Amino acid sequence: MAENENLHARRRAAVPRAIVTATSIFADRAENAEIWDVEGRRYIDFAAGIAVLNVGHCHPRVIGAVRQQLDRFTHTAFQVMAYESYIELAERLNAIAPFSGPAQTILFTTGAEAVENAMKVARAVTGRQTVISFAGGFHGRTALASALTGKVVPYKRQFGSPLPDVFHVPFPSEERDVSVEESLRALDLIFAASAHPESVAAIIIEPVQGEGGFHVAPPELLRALRQICDTHGILLISDEVQTGFARTGKMFAIEHSGVEPDLVTIAKALGGGFPLSGLIGRAELIDRVLPGGMGGTYGGSPIACVAALAVLDIIHEEGLIARANLIGDRLRDRIGAWRLRNDLLPTSDARGLGAMVGFDIRKRHGESECDPEAAAAVRERALEHGLVILNCGQMGESVRILAPLTASEDIIDEGMDCLEAALSVVR
Ligand code: PMP
Repeated sequence: MAENENLHARRRAAVPRAIVTATSIFADRAENAEIWDVEGRRYIDFAAGIAVLNVGHCHPRVIGAVRQQLDRFTHTAFQVMAYESYIELAERLNAIAPFSGPAQTILFTTGAEAVENAMKVARAVTGRQTVISFAGGFHGRTALASALTGKVVPYKRQFGSPLPDVFHVPFPSEERDVSVEESLRALDLIFAASAHPESVAAIIIEPVQGEGGFHVAPPELLRALRQICDTHGILLISDEVQTGFARTGKMFAIEHSGVEPDLVTIAKALGGGFPLSGLIGRAELIDRVLPGGMGGTYGGSPIACVAALAVLDIIHEEGLIARANLIGDRLRDRIGAWRLRNDLLPTSDARGLGAMVGFDIRKRHGESECDPEAAAAVRERALEHGLVILNCGQMGESVRILAPLTASEDIIDEGMDCLEAALSVVR
């Protein structure tokens, strides 16, 4: 039996089907934007481990920093004995926080954990319970994070009643035919019918919805939310788990709007492939949680901290913010040209910011109805052509591109050739 098939059979028996894998191949090794499977076949990686590898697979600086750390110590638990790399990373993140005034940062391991702790800070600071999030949003799979997540299937079905005190507002998007005004009216309705604004602790929003389909939050929505939060003493949380660290052509996506959040959840690209998340907050807020109120055995692992310090150096020294815009323009040009072609599946225009680019697969040319099944087929065909790519969107109707920001133009073009071949209706 071929190695991939063999591993697949073992996986099927040993691992529950609840965890779904986008590809049927098994990884052997990877370098920058390329990955090789256990049968030696090479793939271009436009998934980047779900927006984790902005600096590419196994960047020599990340690996070098981690190797050095492995020779010193691997774990103490920050709660037992602290280490300088955690402090330095917090200092550097505070210095780039997307809001004015003093910042503090606490580190965790996963994105969901960062979201959970953002909620704890908001509840501790305001003494309120209620949280508002957006339909189609994704904030993680832990109990509270999945309550905030605005999608029932597959994240909430089967798990009983979601937490009370969480309300979802429609996220504005042309494709879903929801305007900013309608979104804000829905929020007003919640305030009038279900939860007085003075009982609301926080509003959490992704500046670009990731799992939800790369829909960009309009700046006027973010400005209105900021104003509502200021009026009623509500904390505004920017979930930058997927959008952070140069992906959108800014260090944090909220910077595109000029709106300053109170708390920022970070994860994924921060650790450059090592599990690390965090919460950056206005110091006067985040420091009000009493000692022992936040933490975790592995939070801010020393291995992940040195990797993250290397990631920040790489973003700066390799100019990855500018590269995100350059790569994004290249992707958008290509996707824009596909719309005019009858020999390809019908697609929407490109959406997103910087190098966070997605588009929908549609049922018919010139019409807006989406085709999630065709989008899944494009992902599978792309793999056959040598490209790892992911879907997203409320029903899986979108194709999303999250290429490493360190990928060369040649690799980007080659990846787009594979995607174009996967879109072809002529076979
Ligand atoms: N928030 C956002 C915006 C995300 O995209 C994700 C992961 N896709 C999470 C939170 C949860 O992160 P994790 O899977 O590390 O818990």
